[in-house]
Amino acid sequence: MKINIMTLFPEMCEAVLCESIIGRARENGFVEIECVNIRDYTTDKHNRVDDAPYGGGMGMLMQVQPIDDCYKAICEKSGKKSRLIYMSPCGEVLTQEKVKKLASLDEITLLCGHYEGIDRRVIDSLVDEEISIGDYVLTGGELPALILADAVSRMLPGVLPNDEAKELESHYNGLLEYPQYTRPYEWNGMKVPDVLISGHHGNIEKWRREQSLLMTAKYRPDMLRKADLSESDKKFLEGIITKL
Ligand code: SAM
Repeated sequence: MKINIMTLFPEMCEAVLCESIIGRARENGFVEIECVNIRDYTTDKHNRVDDAPYGGGMGMLMQVQPIDDCYKAICEKSGKKSRLIYMSPCGEVLTQEKVKKLASLDEITLLCGHYEGIDRRVIDSLVDEEISIGDYVLTGGELPALILADAVSRMLPGVLPNDEAKELESHYNGLLEYPQYTRPYEWNGMKVPDVLISGHHGNIEKWRREQSLLMTAKYRPDMLRKADLSESDKKFLEGIITKL
């Protein structure tokens, strides 16, 4: 899969994307991520990419021309129309379900706004969808784009050391993850639950499922309404919900 990031701050994105798991996945060719500098496409003789909003008001808006030309160059390079996603506080809030859908595409392009945002005509004529990372406002779309790129990349085969691991993590199956422990066995009087050192895989699996249900009921009861629950899950929940 290829992810293009259209930004005025490619170094900021590269600094994050060359590290750790995503950095290794890029090196090993499991995901291709290219950060493209929108400023390289401005036709302004002073290299400007923004201007004051019509009608007055504070701040500057990113102009259409550099974004349009930058996006055209990306599509020309890939030989097709790359799905354009504008990172925006007005967009649909990102979920794991959405991440899975995006990871099934072979290419996406993420557009990072900055300053007061971008000229509306970019959204009306070029953008396929708008995605928000939450109901708050950041100074730019770079951190949201990095979050989306990270979440999508880790869904791709080969990116994580153990491909099945992601299926056990929070949100993948509509539940939160069960509690996890590592050495030492005892810390400040708190011991690891006995079942985890029992060596009995069936009991460990059962305990983990129940803990996952318990964590979800405690922290995100709203998620339980949509989760795919078995009859024994429902029975377990009936027993605990009154106690919570
Ligand atoms: N004036 C805009 C508004 O009120 O909706 C906010 C602009 S914000 C200061 C600058 C840029 O940050 C936006 O163009 C967008 O790309 C990005 N941004 C800010 N918050 C975001 C969020 N929650 N999710 C995704 N992108 C966000």
